Amino acid sequence: MRIKEFVKTFRPYKVLEGNYRIWLDKNENPFDLPLEIKEEIFKELKKVPFNRYPHITSMPLREAIAEFYGVSPKNVAVGNGGDELLNYLTRIFDGNYVVTTPPTFAMYNFYARLNGIPVVEVPLKRGFIIDGEKIAEKAQKACVVFIASPNNPTGNVQPREEILKVLDTGVPVVIDEAYAEFSEKSYIDLLDEYENLIILRTFSKAFGLAGIRAGYLLASESVVDALYRIKSPFSLNVLTMTAARVMLNHYDLVKQNINYIVKERERIYQEFKEYTYPSEANFLLMKLDAYEFLLERGIVVRKLDGLLKGHIRVTVGKKEENDELIKALKEFVENVGDI
Ligand code: PMP
Repeated sequence: MRIKEFVKTFRPYKVLEGNYRIWLDKNENPFDLPLEIKEEIFKELKKVPFNRYPHITSMPLREAIAEFYGVSPKNVAVGNGGDELLNYLTRIFDGNYVVTTPPTFAMYNFYARLNGIPVVEVPLKRGFIIDGEKIAEKAQKACVVFIASPNNPTGNVQPREEILKVLDTGVPVVIDEAYAEFSEKSYIDLLDEYENLIILRTFSKAFGLAGIRAGYLLASESVVDALYRIKSPFSLNVLTMTAARVMLNHYDLVKQNINYIVKERERIYQEFKEYTYPSEANFLLMKLDAYEFLLERGIVVRKLDGLLKGHIRVTVGKKEENDELIKALKEFVENVGDI
């Protein structure tokens, strides 16, 4: 048996072993579903036959999402997390390469590389804003452009005028809005006008369902049709689809959690303004090399590298968790100040 050398160029997933108290590293929602909603999901699941395969094109969940947004199910695709959809989106369009805008979400690069598609990077400008003109220039020969708004790990929303410059090329553009519920800014309104626009969303963040693995996209019928021709047939299981459908009926609770997280985000931001970038997501980018320092105190955050070496990305947690984070970071800042 010989494993391809190509496969060995990918790093194995690292699992952090240890007894850490506070997990602020994966941009998860700090709130699990309340027991009543879990009970509602279980009640729904009692009616679902487990011996049968799930719907091959996930129509029941697509219909529920379509109703939520007031669009047709033909404009909705769902995946086992947004990640699964990103994989297909790198493959369905003709072109020579994928365009990404570092520093940004690593999975665009990951799937492009996995699928043997070259990546052309157009770095973000000052303030982590996309360079619309430069992307438009590179887009001419691209199969797809990936833009995250709010961007991960920088937290900022991309300006409409820059997005329009890219969309006007007619090249497929994925606007990854995984964190859009925290910013209340979305480009969904542009879907009617731009056939080449694909909006990616997830149940993992504002909806608090990272464990169930469900993501979706809104796009033109031709994109959704293409995607369902190559998608793994049963990648969305009945448990996932049931939970996501139930949660769509509880947006009041989702909204309540969003408000809490935004308030806490601003509280942390105000404490460390000097070292922190403004954010419209559920995390903050901080110019503090405090990863190890926090880890020693039982707090796990994301350590960044490459263009953002020396920075950390901190997910907004529950109030008590944020209190501990603030306390530890104050200590860090004071110590660094002493040096
Ligand atoms: N896009 C961005 C920018 C993300 O940060 C994430 C999650 N980390 C995703 C997409 C995908 O999330 P999921 O696969 O959980 O839906």
